[in-house]
Amino acid sequence: MSKISVRNLTKKYGTAIALNNVSLEIESGEFLVLLGPSGCGKTTLLRCLAGLETPDAGEIIMGDTVVFSSEKNIMTPPGKRNLGMVFQSYALWPHMSVRDNVKFGLDVLKTPKPIADERLDEVLGDVGLGHLDQRYPSELSGGQQQRVALARLLATQPPVFLMDEPLSNLDARLRMDMRVELKRFQSEAKATTVYVTHDQTEAMTLADKIVVLQSGRIEQTGAPLDIYNNPQNVFVAGFIGSPRMNLIEATANQGAEGWTLTAPNMSVPIPNVACLTDGAHCTFGIRPEHVSIATEGSGHTKAQVAFAEQLGGETYLYCDVEGSPQITVHQPGQLPIVKGQTLALNFALENMHLFDAYGQVIVNQVTR
Ligand code: ATP
Repeated sequence: MSKISVRNLTKKYGTAIALNNVSLEIESGEFLVLLGPSGCGKTTLLRCLAGLETPDAGEIIMGDTVVFSSEKNIMTPPGKRNLGMVFQSYALWPHMSVRDNVKFGLDVLKTPKPIADERLDEVLGDVGLGHLDQRYPSELSGGQQQRVALARLLATQPPVFLMDEPLSNLDARLRMDMRVELKRFQSEAKATTVYVTHDQTEAMTLADKIVVLQSGRIEQTGAPLDIYNNPQNVFVAGFIGSPRMNLIEATANQGAEGWTLTAPNMSVPIPNVACLTDGAHCTFGIRPEHVSIATEGSGHTKAQVAFAEQLGGETYLYCDVEGSPQITVHQPGQLPIVKGQTLALNFALENMHLFDAYGQVIVNQVTR
């Protein structure tokens, strides 16, 4: 059992606070993805778990073992934490062949030769490097080197996987294949996994749980779709999802007919929502797939198409609304719409998110 508990972890570099009192629980066998903008502290947290950085304060417990405690003065070195790592820098031995690089960890564990050979063939085949096993790292592409690092981690079957963008150097197709394989390896190994990525698709598809970080703090933790559907603040709403959620600053007005959200050239009648006050500043959010094209003269706003992306199976429209932010529309199929065209746009209220003047969620489904 390799549950990981992180309690009140703080890490500073000089006066810069990379991690600010971070606490989280990673269940045994769980796939946890750390997501956030550049510099938010993802790699620092991973390196603290690995034992490659010494935090300034807090506690890390792996299974039943306290591996770091500022209070108890405990700092277990990386080699004694029983974990496998794949970081962006692959750290392969340049003087060893692919096979020997992967075999290294099995030798350290004194794995008997027949078992080690079988395991090597299996993992090298899994990552598609069986035919290159006698090459040296300098004779491999970046993506191939990354796969050697992955095979090395998989070979020893550690109970904890720590990975920092392990697929970032692969081309799109291989990345997709490896993503599926990685999830399979991880669930078969039942390894508790902490994975850093910038890639939204990777986060949504691999994670059991996503932790969204900003400036060294946790903004939200939850299952991928829970975070996607129920962002707790404007930051998370704007960060999760690609293309990002349309976020529009508006004013809430109460009239004889009910409530209306108004922004330049937009007027959105909404049902009564608790906590709104007449004249309150707020932000409403609507994902591109929840914006539809209305018949002329109706809809919540009128917009001019600045750019149309026809991808074959789906269409993205980027539409300018005078005085308001550009609205992104995502619709399935092929739409006969061209740049410069004027459209009426409708927002699906049941999928509209409303945030207060401080950016905290008021409601994630306006009709609820
Ligand atoms: P990226 O996605 O760009 O890799 P990240 O979220 O992984 O970013 P970290 O690498 O953890 O971010 O960095 C967090 C903060 O700590 C940043 O402000 C960074 O500049 C700072 N930092 C990280 N390592 C060091 C270091 N060795 N010395 C000084 N500052 C550092």
